[in-house]
Amino acid sequence: MEYRELGHTGEKVSTIGMGTWRFGTHSTSAERASQVQTLRHGVELGINLIDTAEIYASGRSEEVVGEAVKGIRKDVFIATKVAPEHLHHDDVIAACKRSLARLGTSYIDLYQVHWPNPHISIRETMSAMEKLAKDGSVRYIGVSNFSVAETAEASASLERSEIVSNQVEYSLSDRRIEADILPYCVREKLTLIAYSPLNRGHIADSIPSAMTQKYRMTPAQVMLNWVTRDPRVIAIPKAASLSHMEENATSVSVRFEPEEYEQVGSA
Ligand code: NAP
Repeated sequence: MEYRELGHTGEKVSTIGMGTWRFGTHSTSAERASQVQTLRHGVELGINLIDTAEIYASGRSEEVVGEAVKGIRKDVFIATKVAPEHLHHDDVIAACKRSLARLGTSYIDLYQVHWPNPHISIRETMSAMEKLAKDGSVRYIGVSNFSVAETAEASASLERSEIVSNQVEYSLSDRRIEADILPYCVREKLTLIAYSPLNRGHIADSIPSAMTQKYRMTPAQVMLNWVTRDPRVIAIPKAASLSHMEENATSVSVRFEPEEYEQVGSA
């Protein structure tokens, strides 16, 4: 597994993390056990980042993550998110406490604002985030679905901490962030966390077969390798099956030539 620095914190996170959207949804206990097993297998394969959110399956995704990290908490970097309707100061604090309880942990490694809320001042939200960082409930602060201007405003609202990441949609099928958010992250040394990197399971049929053959990779592996070609980017594909988890965990074991990345991108 390849590891990259989160922001400029010195913290190393795996280039491929694990998304957990839909984990915990309508789960039977067998499905839930299988989700826990898949996440634990991901950790065994060297993945140390798990991404969840308070809104995923109304908190049950966080519970699945909590179960998966029991006994191995220190080996895992947990990223979760506060929902946009909880961005008033006291709501952030209360949402964080609920997430901690569901995750069964005393700290969240990366606490992200899930979406901006234009009706709530980011300064108010960030003052709560800093309070959580100060009392040790949260180690690092991030944002998600923030524009460049919103990220800059969030950063400027922090007094003692920094925004370390922005989680946004990025895949071969959606390259909008290349225009401004990616260059901003590179310039400001923020990590760009690519969500839906496999285009929600719609695997590109345009991947050149020369690439899959040369590197003995599946098209999904080529997609993940391509999306993380910039050292500032990490990706959080969601995999419920063990075989998908294994494919994803080994997708960045080698790096392509620059012209091959161009070829995949233009195809
Ligand atoms: P995704 O990761 O692009 O795609 C997930 C789909 O791809 C699932 O159907 C999965 O199938 C399939 N898959 C996984 N590995 C595969 C492989 N090697 N080969 C073929 N298919 C594969 O989509 P996503 O779940 O939307 O995004 C990933 C994560 O990003 C989410 O889980 C969530 O944590 C985060 N996210 C964040 C936001 C935000 O607003 N911040 C929004 C959306 C998502 P199986 O599950 O059957 O293995």
